[in-house]
Amino acid sequence: MTAFNTLPLKPALLASVETLGYTEMTPVQAQSLPPMLAGRDVIAQAQTGSGKTAAFGLSLLQSIDVDTIRLQALVLCPTRELADQVSKALRKLAANIPNVKLLTLCGGMPLGPQLASLSHDPHIVVGTPGRVQEHLKRGSLHGGGIKVLVLDEADRMLDMGFSEAIDDIVGRIAKHHQTLLFSATYPEEIRAVSQRVQTDPVVVTVDTPAEQKPAIEQQFIEVEPAQKLDALAQLLAGERGQHALVFCNMRRDVDAVAQELDRRGYSALALHGDMEQRDRDEVLVRFANKSCNVLVATDVAARGLDIAALPLVLCYDVAHDPDTHTHRIGRTGRAGETGLAITLCTPRERPKAANIEEAGGVPLSWRTLKVAPPRGKTLQLAPMKTLVIDAGRQDKLRPGDILGALTGDAGLDAKDIGKIDVFATRAYVAIGRALAAKSLERLRAGRIKGRNFRVRPLG
Ligand code: AMP
Repeated sequence: MTAFNTLPLKPALLASVETLGYTEMTPVQAQSLPPMLAGRDVIAQAQTGSGKTAAFGLSLLQSIDVDTIRLQALVLCPTRELADQVSKALRKLAANIPNVKLLTLCGGMPLGPQLASLSHDPHIVVGTPGRVQEHLKRGSLHGGGIKVLVLDEADRMLDMGFSEAIDDIVGRIAKHHQTLLFSATYPEEIRAVSQRVQTDPVVVTVDTPAEQKPAIEQQFIEVEPAQKLDALAQLLAGERGQHALVFCNMRRDVDAVAQELDRRGYSALALHGDMEQRDRDEVLVRFANKSCNVLVATDVAARGLDIAALPLVLCYDVAHDPDTHTHRIGRTGRAGETGLAITLCTPRERPKAANIEEAGGVPLSWRTLKVAPPRGKTLQLAPMKTLVIDAGRQDKLRPGDILGALTGDAGLDAKDIGKIDVFATRAYVAIGRALAAKSLERLRAGRIKGRNFRVRPLG
């Protein structure tokens, strides 16, 4: 039985499931929901796309008593991007439960506003471990009433060094609570965490059926170190280079590679963990809204990124271990489209490629590339351009207001307007490149929601 109404869920939750159009449970939901709803600890091996968020979301929302003004459920996520995604999904599931208070608490955001929103206990907190730990320590967050703790993408949290923070958080919350652990991979470290924080967990593993596995074509190309940049530029010049993610092992290479690509006329940006949150947000917004074609990133920076299937992933260096390589190439070929993952490998990197081959159990496919030095400048402009508006949610600005201003006063056609992202104090809108200058002029001259906000182009 895989219909949701076979589960002991509140009518409000069944109604949300119906509104969301979920007709049947996914395999992870079908296996994990019954034990979770029965109050058991669960450890589930589940990938993004498996429906894991709705699985733990429904279970924790079932446990919450809205009339009790206490923190009752805590969801820990590795990155702010993922925490935002999870919060959005939980809000949708909770749409028919009046007065549920959910708060997202992540690092990289100013503490002041978070403290202000904590003046009344929320029912649910979704956050990153470091920041949640800080609030628990300060006493601005009270863990004594927590009934459910969720560790989402636990493997990534460990990779990012959150192990101690998680242990500390567990020590600061109610002793008796249910712990739900979700992880894409199931290494020894995860088993160890489970042993520390769970009691007699039900283990859920779901094999992705072969026909649902994304098709990824992998290629390895041997190059000399001095040829790497030319090879990369050449590979990016093709059609797939219009939306590609490039991985480098080292942060300093991320900057150098992005700068060099930019110099050669590509539209490339760098993303690494040391960047200010605001710069990180901007880079991600520009890549997702197609006003930047190539994102050059470290593995840590790319974890938990909410970017849809990319046509091309390029590894500028061979990853140090097979797991990291698997995470990298998993960025392409999602949603039933064939993706291409190309790894550049110098003779010295051969042993790392051999490890990947051994771990994968299939021979690597090597191809040759005739690397030619660049002939003049390639001009590969991104299709969109981003405009920043210095106003956001705090000014009650919504995407519809921006769309309205652009199609109304500014006279644009809705089809020329791309993604609109509204943050607390800023908003970003992507406009077809050719129309960006005109839109900027008109937005500056006109009003948004009857007010004048500062607007400027990015990049
Ligand atoms: P997740 O694995 O949590 O990232 O979810 C992947 C996607 O599947 C999300 O867009 C969900 O809205 C969607 N989803 C979750 N559960 C179901 C379901 N039972 N039927 C259809 N779609 C679902």
